[in-house]
Amino acid sequence: MSTRIAFIGLGHMGGPMAANLVKAGYQVTGFDVVPAANEAARQNGVETAGSAEAAAAGAAVVITMLQTGRQVLDVYSGRDGSGGALAAAAPGTLFLECSTIAVEDAKQAHQAAETAGQRCLDAPVSGGVVGAVAGTLTFMAGGTEADFAQAEPILQAMGKRIVHCGAAGAGQAAKVCNNLILGVSMIAVCEAFVLGEKLGLEHQTLFDVASNASGQCWALTTNCPVPGPVPASPANRDYQPGFAGALMAKDLGLALQALQATGVTAELGSRAAEIYRRFAEEGGADKDFSAIINQIRERSQG
Ligand code: NAD
Repeated sequence: MSTRIAFIGLGHMGGPMAANLVKAGYQVTGFDVVPAANEAARQNGVETAGSAEAAAAGAAVVITMLQTGRQVLDVYSGRDGSGGALAAAAPGTLFLECSTIAVEDAKQAHQAAETAGQRCLDAPVSGGVVGAVAGTLTFMAGGTEADFAQAEPILQAMGKRIVHCGAAGAGQAAKVCNNLILGVSMIAVCEAFVLGEKLGLEHQTLFDVASNASGQCWALTTNCPVPGPVPASPANRDYQPGFAGALMAKDLGLALQALQATGVTAELGSRAAEIYRRFAEEGGADKDFSAIINQIRERSQG
């Protein structure tokens, strides 16, 4: 009989990830608080349960793909701290926590799992909905070697690159550091294009120079914030995401939390978190994060 996997949180990411597990031959029992998400999952061959606890009971592995750390901790331990999926699962079950949450929340989830006699790996992803559908996500994992070894073939069914980053919380740490680079570098690329416009440079000219010079980076060469130079970038389709401004604001909020917790001075990272928070509040939440160039341009009149 195939391994049974519980999948809690069948949204934009979790839905297609669960479907890919079914395609790989796993028996998947899912649960989402939104009925439509359960219905969509059933159409992809996922059985659904009436609660997270019911899905976790009898599963060999429990995957969570939720919005916030609070949701993860509630699903793990129950809202009042008693029960939840950790108590419902058989002892020694492996919990794979794939949501993007604070490093501290991930460590708390590991601790709760250990206390309940369960095993845990934090394994956040990058690659977006496109990667979730195509099964090409990158997973960044934190936990023991043994738990990583058990998780790896399951993660392979949903992703292309699976990286063991270290002990509990190291997956979330890698994710937050990567997104700090991405958030700051996108702002720098946007500022450079707006400055280039003011100085009379064609977009393509600046792109041709910088993409072959020391300004080269993913924000420029893959997700170029102006239409033209990179035909597949969101700028060519009115900034449809892509990677939504709301998610970048969320991720840099988590970076800010980590910066404060560790006492690291990161003037650009802190400022970037503030800039994306404002961008998301002022209409950028559902746009690709590269649309921040429009805000920079608007503020640069005169
Ligand atoms: P989503 O909101 O589409 O999905 C989350 C799902 O969790 C929702 O369907 C929601 O109803 C469900 N949920 C909430 N509380 C629940 C509970 N108690 N029990 C069961 N289900 C519950 O979000 P998403 O875009 O799928 O993102 C999921 C996670 O992945 C987030 O942490 C996000 O930051 C991260 N992420 C998203 C992307 C992306 O491009 N969307 C990329 C990388 C990482």
